[in-house]
Amino acid sequence: MFFAFLSDFDVFFSRYAKDQNHRNLISHSIIPSIIIIVLGLLISWPALVISGFAYFTHVMVDMFDWGTNLLYFPKKTFGPRLFMSKEEEENLLKILTQYKNGASFFDFKYYNSKLALIIEALLFVLMMVFIILLAFEYILISLIYFLGLCFHLSRHYHLKKIEKN
Ligand SMILES: [Zn+2]
Repeated sequence: MFFAFLSDFDVFFSRYAKDQNHRNLISHSIIPSIIIIVLGLLISWPALVISGFAYFTHVMVDMFDWGTNLLYFPKKTFGPRLFMSKEEEENLLKILTQYKNGASFFDFKYYNSKLALIIEALLFVLMMVFIILLAFEYILISLIYFLGLCFHLSRHYHLKKIEKN
């Protein structure tokens, strides 16, 4: 579970990334997953192999909304990037200058999408059902979800306030 969100801590290193986008860092490529899985196989530790796959699911899911630098070396963004039209993709830098904080573009796209919110709610329900049915003794782990939710919602309202002024 920890390895599934570990890669997002690279957000603290955004300034070193191309376009200041943390998803262009090596931590959002397929490379760490491969290293973790191979290491797990070498020392025959199944938990580490599973952790490697958990890490990979994160990178894979990130391809669907905004894309991620899957293969790292070409420094190119991969994925269907469902939240962005071709036009927006080509003029992204220009579009971002229309906001006081470029992050607002991405944040508002997500929170204004009914489909994204429905998927978010569905995944939450699924998570709770799976924990209750399969690992009830770990139910308190779901509190981490609410920590993340608080962080993202407060960021959303903060950005909304900035753009309104
Ligand atoms: Zn991510």
